[in-house]
Amino acid sequence: MNYTERPFPPSLWQATATPQPDTPPLQEDASADVAIIGAGYTGLSTALHLAEKGVGAIVLDAEQPGWGASGRNGGQVIPGLKYDPDELVARLGAKWGEALIGLAGGAADTVFDLIDKYQIDCGAVRKGWIQTAHSPNMMRLMEKRAGQWERRGAPVELLDGAAVRRRIGAGKFVGGWVDYRAGGVQPLSYARGLARVAQGLGARVHGQSRAVQVGKTSGGWRVATAQGAAVHAKRVLIATNGYTDDLWPGLRQTILPAVSFLVATAPLPDELGASILPGREVSSDSRRLLVYFRRDEQGRLVLGGRGPFSDPRDMSEWAHVERALELMFPQIKGVAYEYRWSGRLAVTADFMPHVHEPAPGLNIALGYNGRGIAMATTMGRIIADHIAGDGAMPLAYPVTSIKPIPFHGLQRFYMAAGVAWYRLLDALS
Ligand SMILES: Cc1cc2nc3c(=O)[nH]c(=O)nc-3n(C[C@H](O)[C@H](O)[C@H](O)COP(=O)(O)OP(=O)(O)OC[C@H]3O[C@@H](n4cnc5c(N)ncnc54)[C@H](O)[C@@H]3O)c2cc1C
Repeated sequence: MNYTERPFPPSLWQATATPQPDTPPLQEDASADVAIIGAGYTGLSTALHLAEKGVGAIVLDAEQPGWGASGRNGGQVIPGLKYDPDELVARLGAKWGEALIGLAGGAADTVFDLIDKYQIDCGAVRKGWIQTAHSPNMMRLMEKRAGQWERRGAPVELLDGAAVRRRIGAGKFVGGWVDYRAGGVQPLSYARGLARVAQGLGARVHGQSRAVQVGKTSGGWRVATAQGAAVHAKRVLIATNGYTDDLWPGLRQTILPAVSFLVATAPLPDELGASILPGREVSSDSRRLLVYFRRDEQGRLVLGGRGPFSDPRDMSEWAHVERALELMFPQIKGVAYEYRWSGRLAVTADFMPHVHEPAPGLNIALGYNGRGIAMATTMGRIIADHIAGDGAMPLAYPVTSIKPIPFHGLQRFYMAAGVAWYRLLDALS
């Protein structure tokens, strides 16, 4: 996989983040209880929660903390998984279904509690997530979705078309619902904040340290880096998500590294700003091909959506998201775009995050399907619980085997995504 990216201008989040923590490359062999590969939310949250329990970890990243999806995403902290609560029970049975509803339903709390506890400076705002419905059918689905969460005690509210249009500042919606558990963060500042807290509690974080080999030793595991130095550890976690390479056999083939593209306008003038998400909720559309949007701390309008399945080659590749933004918010005509960037998320065949344990002492967690701020942070917590007890504490998430996505499945997915995007632009225009 070609890992290098062209030197595109910095993203909005790079331009406005808190400073990067000090994370020098690993220069000499080192040992720790746990070696963690990948310094995104999954790896960093695991290191932080391990450190809270007095378990030492060394985190290695090929680039820097938050370089991957964790520093590039839309910053929408949304609880839940792709499936509604009743669907989860139907798919996984009562035991796992109810367990995951609890875990995923509380996932945004995990993020905002950590931010509060450690005073992480990341522009956190918790005003809810509005999911919009573009058709009566979709609205019926949202009524069910909101009802299922409400029955489980979640603070949610149904919105009619007028309320959605007023709160979002865009037309063409028949209604929607708002989930007040959700909110927004500056995603790169949040990732850097997790790294800083983990370091403060005793974890080591090394940037520019690509893991190139994970091998068994008599006492545990050895993780070798590209520069030669290695980490010896009793246990290993691989947390490389959409940037997974060939480090562990077959893992790269279990996910589709879909690329999502974002644009940010210049800060909106006051009058215009007052009409677009003035309540500072985060929002996304309910169509199969998600378009997500929010304001940032300086009042920019930020909008993202899936794009082609490869990393961009030139700036024209953002044209489709700009078109979607202008069709949805025609009032922003004339406002300049300040930032364009993209990142890779990991889509799985069943649209669920995957946890693997291919050998005793080795865990892998990835595949948040574009909903990872809350879930990857939570995953870090439960993996830390499992690892800290040396595996004695069962993982609070179903462990599955590594199953490559079959080629025909991939083709269907690519084609469906392409068609969905064109339908979306048609529907907006
Ligand atoms: C553009 C975009 C928008 C998104 N929007 C949202 C959103 O609004 N809300 C939401 O909840 N989720 C969103 N997501 C999803 C969310 O960002 C991810 O689910 C989450 O960040 C995954 O975190 P992670 O730690 O598992 O992976 P990542 O943050 O991708 O981290 C993986 C890390 O592994 C490192 N790595 C890879 N291979 C190696 C190796 N061999 N050795 C060492 N290091 C290695 C990489 O350098 C990288 O830093 C979005 C994702 C993208 C890309």
